[in-house]
Amino acid sequence: MNIEPLHNWITKPNEPLIIAGPCGAETQEQVLQTAKELAQNESIKLFRAGIWKPRTRPNAFEGVGERGLEWLTIVQKQYGLKTTVEVANAQHTELALKHGVDVLWIGARTTGNPFSVQEIADVVKGVDIPVFIKNPIHADVQLWLGAIERFSNSGITKLAAIHRGFHYAGKTKYRNKPMWELAIELKTILPDLPIICDPSHICGNRELIPHVAQKALDLGMNGLMIESHINPDLALSDAQQQLTPDALKEILNTLIYRQSFSKNPECLDKLSQFRKMIDEVDDELINVLKKRMSVIEQIGIYKKEQDLTIFQLERWQEILRSRSQWAEKLGIPRAHTEKICQLLHEESIRIQTEIMNKK
Ligand code: PEP
Ligand code: MN
Repeated sequence: MNIEPLHNWITKPNEPLIIAGPCGAETQEQVLQTAKELAQNESIKLFRAGIWKPRTRPNAFEGVGERGLEWLTIVQKQYGLKTTVEVANAQHTELALKHGVDVLWIGARTTGNPFSVQEIADVVKGVDIPVFIKNPIHADVQLWLGAIERFSNSGITKLAAIHRGFHYAGKTKYRNKPMWELAIELKTILPDLPIICDPSHICGNRELIPHVAQKALDLGMNGLMIESHINPDLALSDAQQQLTPDALKEILNTLIYRQSFSKNPECLDKLSQFRKMIDEVDDELINVLKKRMSVIEQIGIYKKEQDLTIFQLERWQEILRSRSQWAEKLGIPRAHTEKICQLLHEESIRIQTEIMNKK
């Protein structure tokens, strides 16, 4: 896939792309005042504003529509900020292109719908416009990848993914669970694709934003999209998660921006020493795993001879409980040990099933 780095067209090398602006454009005054304050912060390169808002229930604020695009033209001219809006169908896209929006973004609900994505990809075919693709609501990396591929197939090369967290039915302090591992999975599949984190929609409240933004930077993500409104409490959508431009400035100033690599020979040498140590430990770990698998095979053969079932509930509960306890004494978190035990147990069941099925 042909993907241009962000520094080809919007940032400097190694500089994170900071996108800020209100969840939704509400009035000309709100848009211009927010843009004016944000423009004073040099690190902000792109001004976001939702023009068409996907809302759960009808009659909620659904965005101001086309007239908001005219306000964004003033933002470009008056404050020198590039602009980005969410497009969810062909008509939105045509209007955004007509009004000279600089970057299009695909919202989480749209990414999950290949028909809509294709419809938008068809409109931008042959147009040199950057497109950012938010992850779908569901924890499905293939769906995310598929949407990116549709734009790439339309000839779009200024591509980036936006990580905005995933719907999670269980208990979580986030509005959308980050599931960082899925963003890492996407990066592993498309190493050249910049990934921008959207802490606002992950958190759903302002308090958690600094922590999530820092974690994104620590993981080497390429930028942040954060919602900012001149009067967050009065915002017509996502009021709890929006920050005043001043509060956003404060957060951006306290974040630590790390480099993904070092050129310092001393540092490189030290890193390679640590990596050698890790290699040795992993080698030991794999040998231990092999040893465990051999015992699993022996027990499988024995259970088959004795006509015993593979799965023994009490034994499994005992393994889970005791291993977590042993590990916890060494300072290894219980949840981590439980995950490893689950994986070991799954593999053990698979090996023993294979043995049982052998003629
Ligand atoms: C938004 O950015 O305001 C938005 C609607 O986000 P998402 O598509 O991530 O829900
Ligand atoms: Mn929003």
